Amino acid sequence: MRSEINQMSIKFLSRSCNEAFARQAVAAFAAQLDPTIEEINDIKTAVSEAVTNCIVHAYREETGYITIQAKLFDNDEIQISIKDKGCGIPDVQQARQPMFTTGDAGRSGMGFTIMESFMDKLRIRSREGVGTQVTMTKRILNRFA
Ligand code: ATP
Ligand code: MG
Repeated sequence: MRSEINQMSIKFLSRSCNEAFARQAVAAFAAQLDPTIEEINDIKTAVSEAVTNCIVHAYREETGYITIQAKLFDNDEIQISIKDKGCGIPDVQQARQPMFTTGDAGRSGMGFTIMESFMDKLRIRSREGVGTQVTMTKRILNRFA
């Protein structure tokens, strides 16, 4: 059984300028696991995709809160949860499909596919009209072991 060794949470408005803040904040926290540059970049990319989804899909024309909780475990795993109280996803299975998008022409429908490939695990919980929670886990390989 893994045990939790550290935890942080942040809450911020769904403004696009906060996307960089969120990605940097999670990367700074993850640095405690001594990740490689590549691992940090994978985490930053996955967080960016999830936060962008909250900004462009969950809250659309409105502005709402996004909460991120990150946990570190003694088996070198980081778990990152990104939560909104936006419109929700009617069909999560469909939303996870590569190239599925409800967005405009600028969206490629690849966000969840990217999160899935850059992280080890991706869980999506969503309810229409209530919100969405995306939880991702990644194991940081110990270079010095
Ligand atoms: P891309 O990420 O490539 O710009 P995209 O955002 O449409 O395009 P995904 O990130 O894979 O692609 O998301 C797929 C679909 O899931 C979105 O088009 C949207 O309908 C829905 N979705 C994703 N995240 C949320 C969210 N937090 N709230 C509501 N709907 C969401
Ligand atoms: Mg997306």
